[in-house]
Amino acid sequence: DMFQDIDMGEIIMGNIALSRYTRPTPVQKHAIPIIKSKRDLMACAQTGSGKTAAFLLPVLSQIYTEGPGEALQAAKNNAQDNGRYGRRKQYPLALVLAPTRELALQIYDEARKFAYRSRVRPCVVYGGADIGQQIRELERGCHLLVATPGRLVDMMERGKIGMDHCCYLILDEADRMLDMGFEPQIRRIVEQDTMPPKGVRQTMMFSATFPKEIQILARDFLEDYIFLAV
Ligand code: AMP
Repeated sequence: DMFQDIDMGEIIMGNIALSRYTRPTPVQKHAIPIIKSKRDLMACAQTGSGKTAAFLLPVLSQIYTEGPGEALQAAKNNAQDNGRYGRRKQYPLALVLAPTRELALQIYDEARKFAYRSRVRPCVVYGGADIGQQIRELERGCHLLVATPGRLVDMMERGKIGMDHCCYLILDEADRMLDMGFEPQIRRIVEQDTMPPKGVRQTMMFSATFPKEIQILARDFLEDYIFLAV
């Protein structure tokens, strides 16, 4: 029951050590190998279970340590060029949707911790804050985007973000996002033509509960998924 048992590459392992996490929580222990095996995942886990690291660690590790496919390499080059030259539309490799600004910021902070010294650049966008500032941050390069659904739709409409290279899609606290009425925005983001279809991208949903509406979303967004309850 140690992080060393799940190899995630040198940089990520070093950052886990820096974060002083010594052993994986149950959701991490079970979800990380599933995500690393490239399966879609529907995980029922509560806040405080360590679910954030459960998806961030394997996704960052896959972005960084794997021999990337051609699409992924093209996206990386594109993202890096964007970072260098700025002012261009960003094409994140990974997208995390979260219901609130607070949760989005928590996920972003954890992503920065684990992406340290990796050249993966995380960004965060959320409603109720100055959009100009967030656009300037995006223009410096964005490989992993954490977003609340309404603000992301706004960014897409302004042509600041494209989903063409989104290989990893995570819906965090999916039940809360539906409770807050975000289903139209979520469908708009996930079902747009430029988003890689399910089965091509890897999709992970996290939810505290598993009611009918979440089952429907899982059916629509996930391909041949593994169900995990911790
Ligand atoms: P989460 O459920 O992702 O919101 O995480 C809850 C809290 O547990 C956060 O403050 C994390 O930083 C912390 N945490 C997550 N995983 C571990 C771990 N393996 N060891 C120690 N703390 C952890």
